[in-house]
Amino acid sequence: MHDVIVIGAGLAGLRCAGLLSAGGLDVVVLEAADAVGGRQRTDIVDGFRLDRGFQVLNPAYPALRRSVDLDALALGSFPVGVRVRTAEGMAELRHPLRYPLSIATSLRSGLVNGRDAFALARWTTPALVRPLSRLARNDVTLREAWDAVGLSGPLRTAVLEPFLAGVLAEGGGETSNAFARLLVRYFVLGRPGLPAQGIAAVPEQLAAHARATGADIRLDARAERMTALGEGVRVELADGDSVRATRVVVAVSPDAVTDLTGLARPATNGLQTWWFAAAEPPTASALLTVDGRGRGPVVNTVVMTHTVPAYAPAGRHLIAATCLLPRGADPAEENDVRRHLSEIWGADISAWKLIRRDDITDALPAQPAPLGAARSPRYAERLYVAGDHRDTASIQGALASGERAARAVLSDAGTSRSAASLHR
Ligand SMILES: Cc1cc2nc3c(=O)[nH]c(=O)nc-3n(C[C@H](O)[C@H](O)[C@H](O)COP(=O)(O)OP(=O)(O)OC[C@H]3O[C@@H](n4cnc5c(N)ncnc54)[C@H](O)[C@@H]3O)c2cc1C
Repeated sequence: MHDVIVIGAGLAGLRCAGLLSAGGLDVVVLEAADAVGGRQRTDIVDGFRLDRGFQVLNPAYPALRRSVDLDALALGSFPVGVRVRTAEGMAELRHPLRYPLSIATSLRSGLVNGRDAFALARWTTPALVRPLSRLARNDVTLREAWDAVGLSGPLRTAVLEPFLAGVLAEGGGETSNAFARLLVRYFVLGRPGLPAQGIAAVPEQLAAHARATGADIRLDARAERMTALGEGVRVELADGDSVRATRVVVAVSPDAVTDLTGLARPATNGLQTWWFAAAEPPTASALLTVDGRGRGPVVNTVVMTHTVPAYAPAGRHLIAATCLLPRGADPAEENDVRRHLSEIWGADISAWKLIRRDDITDALPAQPAPLGAARSPRYAERLYVAGDHRDTASIQGALASGERAARAVLSDAGTSRSAASLHR
C-alpha cells in the first residue's frame, strides 16, 4: 500500500506529487494520457512544435517561480504590448508602465483618449497595490467594473476587450473583475513568454523533479473508481488493475472531476487555436495582434517564431490564431479564419499551410464574480482535490492548488518535513 495516489499528471498533480515525495512519502501518480502535462502538451508535427492550444507562461507567477527552474526553460519573451488592426491601419500600443515614452504614440493612434486613459488608471492602480483579498471584496463582473470607472471608448472596445477575450476565454465581460485585475498585475510584473522547447517543458520539469524525489509516474493509467477500505482507498484503473494508498489526491481536468469525486462539474470556457506554416511571416513584429474593429472569429494572432524560433524548422514560420469556443456554439471554420486573418494582417495568406487546429472545450475554468477564496483541498476522509478549478484559472492557480493539497496531506499524515518540503 502506497502513502498517496495522485490522480492526474497536469501541473497541479505533478507539483503536489513532487512535494509529497520530497516530504518523504511513497507516492504513485496515475495519468490517463500517454504523457504528462494535461493541458500543457507540445507535439512535434512536420518539424513544427505545436502546443495544444496557444498559451503563454508568465514568469511572475509566484507558484511558478518556486516550482521550476525558469532559466532551464530558456524562455523566449513576447514584447510587452499589443498591435491593433483598425479601419485606418495597424496601431501599436506598448505597455505604458514599462515604456512611458510610448504614451504619445498611443494617443496618436486614436485608440486612447484622455478619458479612457484616466479610467484605465483608476481601474489598474488597485491591481498593482492591493492584496487579492481586498481586490476580491465587493467583486463585480469586469463589464460592470469598466462601466463604473467610465472606461467606454476605443481603448476598451478595440484593445482591452479583444485582448482579454483571448486571455479569459470569454468575450462578454462576465469574468470576475478581481481575477482580471490579478492577471493584469502579473502582466505588469512579468513578461510572458514560452519555453524554447514548448509549453510541455514546464510539466516535464515538474515530472523530472517528482521522479528524482522518488515518485512513480504511471502513464496510460486511467483511474475509474475509488473505494474506501478501512485504513485507505483503492483506486481501480480502466485496464482492470487497482492500486491502494492511505490517501488519494484527485488532480484531474475539470471534465473528469465529477465522475471520480461526485463534486459538481466546474464550469469552463473553450478556446480554439489554428496553427499555420508560412515561408514568409506577415510582419516583422512579434507583438500579439488583435482586431479592434469588432470582427471575428479570430481574437488574437501572433507570429510564434519571432519569439520562439525553435517552434519551426529553419527558414519556416509558425503563426497561431486563436478563436473563442463557446459551449454549444459552432466552432469557427477554416474559410472564416483565413478570411479574417488576411484582413487582420493585410496580406494574402492563401499559401499558408494549416498544420493543425486545436479545439479545447475545457480550456479554462470559468471565473465568475464574486471571486471566491481558493477552495479547501480536503473533500472527504483521506480524499483531496486539486487543480486550477479549485484556485484561479491559470498556471499559477493549478500550481498553488497542488501545493495546498500537498500541505494538507503532509499535515494529515503527520509528516514532520511538511513545511521544509514546500521549498525545493
Ligand atoms: C488553450 C489554453 C490556453 C491557456 N492559456 C493560459 C495562459 O496563457 N496562462 C495561464 O496561466 N494558463 C493558461 N491556460 C490554463 C493552464 O494550462 C491550466 O490552468 C493548467 O495547465 C491546468 O493544470 P491542472 O493540473 O489543473 O489540470 P490539467 O492540465 O487538466 O491536468 C489534469 C490531468 O488529469 C488527467 N486525467 C483526467 N482524468 C483522469 C483519470 N480518470 N485518471 C487519470 N488521469 C486523469 C488528464 O489527462 C490531465 O493530464 C490555458 C489552457 C489552455 C488549454
